[in-house]
Amino acid sequence: MSTYHRTAAIVSQGDEIVLGQTLDTNSRWLSGRLMDAGVLPVEHVSLPDDRGAIAATLTRLSERVNLIICSGGLGPTADDLTRFALLDVLGGEMVEDEASLAAIRAYFESRGRVMGELNRVQAQRPRAAEMIANPHGTAPGLFARLPSGCEVFCLPGPPREMMPMFESHVRPRLRLEPGRTVVTRSLHTIGLGESEIAARLTRAGDMMARTRNPSIGTTASQSIVSVRMRYEGASAGAAAALDADERAVRDLLGSAVFADGDQTLAAACLARLRERKQTLSVAESCTGGLLGSLITDVAGSSDVFVGGWLTYSNEAKRRDLGVPAALFSESGAAAAPGAVSAEVAAAMAEGARRVSGSSFALSITGIAGPGGAVPGKPVGTVFIGLAGDGFATKIRRFAMSSDRSAVRDWAARAALAMLWFHVVDDTTTRLLREVRLDGSA
Ligand code: ATP
Repeated sequence: MSTYHRTAAIVSQGDEIVLGQTLDTNSRWLSGRLMDAGVLPVEHVSLPDDRGAIAATLTRLSERVNLIICSGGLGPTADDLTRFALLDVLGGEMVEDEASLAAIRAYFESRGRVMGELNRVQAQRPRAAEMIANPHGTAPGLFARLPSGCEVFCLPGPPREMMPMFESHVRPRLRLEPGRTVVTRSLHTIGLGESEIAARLTRAGDMMARTRNPSIGTTASQSIVSVRMRYEGASAGAAAALDADERAVRDLLGSAVFADGDQTLAAACLARLRERKQTLSVAESCTGGLLGSLITDVAGSSDVFVGGWLTYSNEAKRRDLGVPAALFSESGAAAAPGAVSAEVAAAMAEGARRVSGSSFALSITGIAGPGGAVPGKPVGTVFIGLAGDGFATKIRRFAMSSDRSAVRDWAARAALAMLWFHVVDDTTTRLLREVRLDGSA
């Protein structure tokens, strides 16, 4: 096995992790930090508080990777078993580490408390292991080299303790192969399904082949599909290889690519509007403010985002946005289109734009469910409007899922997608789950 840390496994411990009561954010963070350093995480394991399972997992992983990072299970109670599992793997005996005991005592004293006897166990380590100081808590970490040569760092579970210990004690001890790197890049898309993206990339020289370097994969979350590229190899070739792939992916996916890195769809839209010195307002109904929330999640949005209306009732739509009363079914007009209709979406967007004076206004009206369906308009029917200068108000109709929160999430993103395709002058892309205005597929 190489003396370098090329591959790593991350082990999260605790019943609460396995039972789903605590979200394992440590593994995600650790993976990112390892990749930044050029070490490739190849396995994540979550384990309950079970000494035998932890020891068996450490033994198994030590044959597969050069580095294991554990988090959790270093506390003082009977369910904190990491040190004992490590002892089982290393053999030998448990010893009390004087310096750690003094540090734990000092930690309590600095807070005006006396160390309880229970905490004494936290100063114990297998003789063959080293302690790692924890300036932010009572649980020191542990470091050991396992019989296979694999190195293991055990860190406490609380992120605010684990993260600084990684930075100060693990990161400087990583042995990185000179001239080798792992670099990732991602491009985010809207409007295309994952299978369509895969088909385009596969047709273009099998870009998603598992053995390719850079490797390319996709992940879909809500309506956004991200194309992730990962280069692993000589540092010198990384930028050129990723640049070439990024250009190829952008060419193949066109205006569906709205951002790279961590930029959100809302941020990408705002950036385009800012360049053009244009502003935006929103008029929401079934999304209850979600669209405004996505927009205002972007720091500095106020130079583009004017504000909006949450017009849930017909009365609010009429009073605040001037939607004609005759459009609502309750008006008694025989052919009234109703609150969830292209006509009302248009009137909401136009009203928001007129009252706010913004360059663009987006509107959303729909049936999030579970009730509210009417003949011809099942739960999940959503109309989105985009009003602006120099073009007839655009309306799109969607048939979304029947889950209330999913309908709301999709609708808010679909509104941003409409704005995105408008500002990039793409008039042909049909959005995911879009149907004709009369409801036909
Ligand atoms: P302490 O003695 O400080 O409790 P510990 O090493 O025993 O340290 P745990 O008891 O396993 O840590 O976890 C303490 C808390 O840390 C958990 O309740 C949880 O809030 C957080 N935590 C643990 N593991 C993770 C993880 N993988 N991701 C995010 N948070 C975690």
